[in-house]
Order: sequence, then structure tokens, then C-alpha cells
Amino acid sequence: MRVGERFVPELRDEDQRVPSSCAINQHGIVLLVQLRYNFRVYPTPGQQVELARAFGCARVVFNDGLRLRQEAREQGLPYVSDAELSKRIITQAKGTPQRAWLGEVSSVVLQQALADLNTAYRNFFASITGKRKGRTVAPPRFRSRKDNRQAIRFTKNSRFKVLDNGRLRLPKIGDLAVRWSRTLPSDPSSVAIIRDAAGRYFASFVVQTGEDETLPPVESEVGIDLGLTHFAVMSNGTKIAAPKFLRRAARKLKRLQQSLSRKRRGSNNRKKAVLKVARAHARVADTRRDWQHKLSTSIVRENQAIFVEDLCVVGLGRTRLAKSVHDAGWASFTGMVEYKAARYGRAFGRVDRFFPSTRMCSQCGRINEKMALNVRAWDCRCGATHNRDVNAAINVRAAGQADLNARGAHVRPGLIPAARNEAGTHPDAACSTRSVEGIFVL
Ligand SMILES: [Zn+2]
Repeated sequence: MRVGERFVPELRDEDQRVPSSCAINQHGIVLLVQLRYNFRVYPTPGQQVELARAFGCARVVFNDGLRLRQEAREQGLPYVSDAELSKRIITQAKGTPQRAWLGEVSSVVLQQALADLNTAYRNFFASITGKRKGRTVAPPRFRSRKDNRQAIRFTKNSRFKVLDNGRLRLPKIGDLAVRWSRTLPSDPSSVAIIRDAAGRYFASFVVQTGEDETLPPVESEVGIDLGLTHFAVMSNGTKIAAPKFLRRAARKLKRLQQSLSRKRRGSNNRKKAVLKVARAHARVADTRRDWQHKLSTSIVRENQAIFVEDLCVVGLGRTRLAKSVHDAGWASFTGMVEYKAARYGRAFGRVDRFFPSTRMCSQCGRINEKMALNVRAWDCRCGATHNRDVNAAINVRAAGQADLNARGAHVRPGLIPAARNEAGTHPDAACSTRSVEGIFVL
């Protein structure tokens, strides 16, 4: 990939397909996968106004719903049901002078905003009752007009339509110009319109596919460790560093952010700097995603089973603080590996037991003394010499294989989680971190 100063990576084919869910039969075969296809869209100035209105209305409905539930809770009233919420926040509110303008946008957009709120609540409840594993999910938070990313969703019953001339017709917004970089395999069941911090618009279609994409089996199985000096280290000894162009882009972003922090609040120069940062940020995010897609695809192709450290556990046992700088990038990367493994019929496992993968000898199993972060290689009393990260990766692979055997499963894909930090409007992020947007994340 050539990267120039003004290089803005486009979403590649592979990037456009992110699963949001799938079904699996009793033989462990993926029957149906929901994939996301993302395309850049170019609304006219008039359509941008309409979209801004829809983003605003969706945000108001979400916040109204959240406030209503919070107030009910404070007053000791029962939890407001989804149906009741929809009735009061949308149907009845439209009849009041304060919220009459909600009628100006598609009601599906409003219902979907409430659906997001309901999902956020369900995830939160599942998390606090222990039904949901992983890092605790925070209760829903109010959305702000200052949020970097605005999104609305249209489902099929909103009658959105891809027209013969290639435009995307959205109710009460109009026909949007789309850059189709590939064709949709079948009718989409929903589409989200997203505006990112850099002011770009995207359409994210959810499409169901039933095709069998299982790859021919291969022998190798791999463990991947979140490296200290590398992005990832594999049990076969391969060390993966974030590529130079990505580090360069991240450095440039950091410089721009520093420059931004020196600008006076409310000044025009600050506004300009904010936009510059947002653009650089989008560039880093796109470049990183592109790189992670290529990396995850090749790892899934080359290995029959892939095991990774569970980030939630890494977070708990933070003797490995230095790794935190990679965490968010790691979450999106392992998420990609996970859904691609399911899609292509490979086994995937997160090693979720906390064990001292770094100082345990992968040859004799002896647990050695703690070592400083700068110790790159060490000798075990059994005579083995270890590279610190490769040894850890080998331990991850062994633990993953043991887990897989214990489950009694031959290669069997697990349920795919909703895609993280991609174009979804589902606030579903079990272990993903908010700092996904952070600049150090490579
Ligand atoms: Zn040993």
C-alpha cells in the first residue's frame, strides 16, 4: 500500500464485511451470518441538513427515554417497559408542542434510537447480574450533540431502498449518492447512516449470507500474545510490529493534538485545529483497520485454531501495565480474528484463565520468578532459553488447546459477538474499551 502525505485509505472489500450476528446448528456449522457492508455516501447540503435533523431527533428520543427511566427509578417506580417507553417518548410526545418536530423525521429512526437504549439497558443488566461475562458494562449514558459520531438506523419497514440508479433512498431524507465499491450479495435488512468526526458520511448495510465459506483445513494452530514491544507475538516466533506508516500517522496526530491544546478556547484557530485533528484521527483509524483486516485474514487462513489472551483478564492482572497502550487496538483486532474464524470454519479461543503466561516455562511448566519489563529473554532451570513474548504466546496456545479439548469440541465456531467499533449502532461492547479512539492504539 502506498502512503502519501494526503493518503486517505478507502474501506476495502474485506473491511466492508463485519458480522453482527450468526446462527449455528448442532454440528457447529454457521448457517447464517449477518455481515455489515460499509460504503461512503455523499449527501447534498440539503440532505446533510435533513440528516442532522434526524441525528438530533434520534438523540433527543434516546435521551428522553433514558431520563424517563432514570426518573422512574429515583421515584421508586417500576422499570418502564420498552412498549410503554415507545408510547410515551414517541407517540404521545409528538402530540406535544415541545416535541411536535419529532414528526419531521422517519418514525423508524426514532424507534431504532429507543431500541439502542433498550439494548444498552439489557447489556447493563446482564452485566451486573453476571449473565454477561467480561468487563462490567456501564449503564446507558446521555448522548451529546458534541459526540464525535452520530448515527441513525433504518430497518426494512422504513422502506429504505437501493434504487436502480445506485442511489440510496431514505424516507424524509432523499436519494443519497453512494460510492459502491462492491455489490451487496442480497437485500439488506437495515442500514445505518453514520457521520464521523471528520464529517464523512457512511452507509452501513446489514446483509444476511448463507453461503458456506469454510476454508480447507490446515495443520497449524497458533497462540498470540499481546507483545510488550510488538503489537503481537505468535507462538511460531513471528513478531508483528505496527507498520511504519501507521506509527508515522499516529505521531502526526499526536503533534496536531498538542497544537490543538495550545489554541485558545472558542477561537477560530481552535475550530480549525479540531477539524485537523478529527481528519488525522479518521486517517489513523482507517489505516489501522485496513492493516488489522489484512493481518487477521492471513492469520485465520494460515491456522486451523487461533488462541489469544483475553483482554479482560489482561486488564485484571495488570502486572503488564506497559501493554495497556496496545489494549484497544488489540480488542478490535481479536474481534476481527474471532468473527473471521467463525466465518471460515476455524477454531478460536480466548484464554480466559489468568495464569502467569510470561514466566511459566513453556517446556517444563515451571513457574519462574517475576521478571522486570525490560527482560526480553530468560533461561529456565530446565535448560530452555526463552524469548519472553514467544514463550508467553506458546503458553497461550497450550492453554487454548486445553480449553478446546475440555469443551470436547472439534473445531467449532462460537457465537460471533456484534462487531466492535465498526459502523454499528448497537452499543454492544462487552470487553471493548472506550479508548479505541485513543491515539496510542496501534
Ligand atoms: Zn523450563
